[in-house]
Amino acid sequence: MNLIWAAAGAVIGLPAGTVLRGDVARLSVRSGEPEETSCRECATALLERPGLRCEHCGCWIGAAMAIELASAAVLALLLARIGFQPAAAAFAYLGVLGVALTQIDVAVQRLPDRLTLPAYPALIILLGLAAVPGGTWGAFVRALLGGLALGAAYLLLGLLSSGQLGGGDIKLAGLLGLVLGWLGWRTLIAGASLGFVMAAAVSLALLAGRRISRKSMISFGPYMLSGALLAVLASKW
Ligand SMILES: [Zn+2]
Repeated sequence: MNLIWAAAGAVIGLPAGTVLRGDVARLSVRSGEPEETSCRECATALLERPGLRCEHCGCWIGAAMAIELASAAVLALLLARIGFQPAAAAFAYLGVLGVALTQIDVAVQRLPDRLTLPAYPALIILLGLAAVPGGTWGAFVRALLGGLALGAAYLLLGLLSSGQLGGGDIKLAGLLGLVLGWLGWRTLIAGASLGFVMAAAVSLALLAGRRISRKSMISFGPYMLSGALLAVLASKW
C-alpha cells in the first residue's frame, strides 16, 4: 500500500466522478425510455456536463456526492496497489467507469451501451500504450484474448440462462476480460469467479431474509465489477 499514490487516486477520483455525474443522471432510465434530459425537481434542461447541482433550483443532480466518493475510494485502492506503472491509466479509467455503471445498474438494472461500447477502443488504446515502454506485448495480446474469452463465456451463459444475464452484462464482461487478461489467466478466472460467488452469497442472504423472491432479477454488473476489482487488488503487480 503506497499512501502517496492512494492520496493521488482520491484526489483524481473526486473530479472524475463529477465528470460522469451527468451521464449517470441521463442514463438512469429504464431500458427503452428516452434519456433523462432535465432536472428531476424543476425540469430545467441539464447541461451537457452538469456540475454537482442543478443550475436553476440548486438540487443535487443524482445522489449527493455518491459518485465522487466512490470514484475516489476505488482510485485510491487501485493506484495504491498499482503505483507508477504504464497500465495504471487503463485500470483507473475502467475503475471510474465501473462506479458510474454500478450506480446505473443498481438504479435501473441496465448497463448502457453509451458507456460500455466506447470503453472498448479506449481500453485497447490505453493498454496498447502501456505495452510500449516495457515491450510487454505478451500481456497486451493476452488482454485482447481475455476480453474475447470472457465476453464469449458470458454470451454463452446469457444464451443458456434465458434472460438472467443481459446484453449489458456480456459487453461489460468483455471489458473486464481485457484488464484481467492483462494481469494473467489466473487473475481473469479469479475475477470472474469472485463475481459469481459474491452475487450468489448476497442473493442467498436476500432470499433467506425474504427481501427478494426466486423470480427477482438482480443487477449483476456490480458483482462482476467488484469481483474484478478484488482480483486486480490481489494480483501480483
Ligand atoms: Zn432543478
